[in-house]
Amino acid sequence: MSATPSPSIAVPHFSSWQQALREAVRSLDELLHWLQLDPHSLTALSHTPFPLRVPHSYVARMQVGHPDDPLLRQILPLRAEQQGAIGFIADPVGDQQAQKTPGLLHKYPNRVLIVATGSCALHCRYCFRRHYPYANTQAQDYTDKLAYIQAHPKITEVILSGGDPLLLSDERLQIWLRGLSTIPHVHTLRLHTRLPIVLPQRITPELLSILSDTRLSVVMVLHANHAQEFNVEVSEALKALRKADILLLNQSVLLRGVNHRPDDLLHLHKILGEHRVMPYYLHLLDKVAGAAHFEVSEAEALSLMHQLRTQLPGYLVPQLVREIAGHPYKQPVFEKT
Ligand SMILES: *Cc1c(COP(=O)(O)O)cnc(C)c1O
Ligand code: SF4
Repeated sequence: MSATPSPSIAVPHFSSWQQALREAVRSLDELLHWLQLDPHSLTALSHTPFPLRVPHSYVARMQVGHPDDPLLRQILPLRAEQQGAIGFIADPVGDQQAQKTPGLLHKYPNRVLIVATGSCALHCRYCFRRHYPYANTQAQDYTDKLAYIQAHPKITEVILSGGDPLLLSDERLQIWLRGLSTIPHVHTLRLHTRLPIVLPQRITPELLSILSDTRLSVVMVLHANHAQEFNVEVSEALKALRKADILLLNQSVLLRGVNHRPDDLLHLHKILGEHRVMPYYLHLLDKVAGAAHFEVSEAEALSLMHQLRTQLPGYLVPQLVREIAGHPYKQPVFEKT
């Protein structure tokens, strides 16, 4: 495992996270140029409806000249995406049937998930929402969603998701927090975000003060898949979030070519522990069209879990889960005894 960025990738300096996002790498040629890879050595796609997108700071954590780099594999569009695979569909987790008002998904009785924006800082090729019709969700309309939550007193927790909710401006986040905190039965605000890992520059003092200045209890579920994603900036961002009294959890997706080797998963969970981030879920891949080449079988996943349980303290072992459309919770996957 190499956690050291190659000295030959110089990260351009961006004065703000918004600028870093605007300047993110969107062209395959540019990406391969940074990584000194020959386009002919990869079966990559330069045009796809779910385009390449990756911030420079994430590219700088990839290994130069290494076509199988685990960070590169997460964002590199491959020709394999165009091969249909049986059982891989546009909406594998039943988001459309759970949508109660545009952009609000209510699957489980006491918590709702809000698709607060359709944008992400980087495009993960295995994303289960890669075909989500974001344009139809009126992502910016708060009133309908707040009215729905107000009318359902069983809802105690609201998850801002997307896309990535930390791509909302501070002002918009502030509006969400103020709106939600006026609803007495809502106790917890949860953010499902990759930004502290992918673009740690987003964790600004202004953001921290917005997240601290609320009566809601704030939980952040990060999404890291590999130890190589951690660097000094990520460590500092996580430390600042901890100091702001935010509970930090992590969910990962089990991905062939990224983290399907025992050492990858062990290192990831050790480094999460070092950063005081509690492992939460390890997801079996959602069968979304275009992602079949990432699949790891259930038998292989269970054997990996056995190795994690043997070699990690119990509190650093994630729950292996699978999402089944219509099921009342994420289904734990256990060894058969
Ligand atoms: C995953 C998910 C949640 C959160 O489930 P937890 O098991 O509490 O993490 C809530 N709502 C929807 C629609 C989800 O997909
Ligand atoms: S950050 Fe999350 S929502 Fe965005 S592309 Fe990646 S997996 Fe999908």
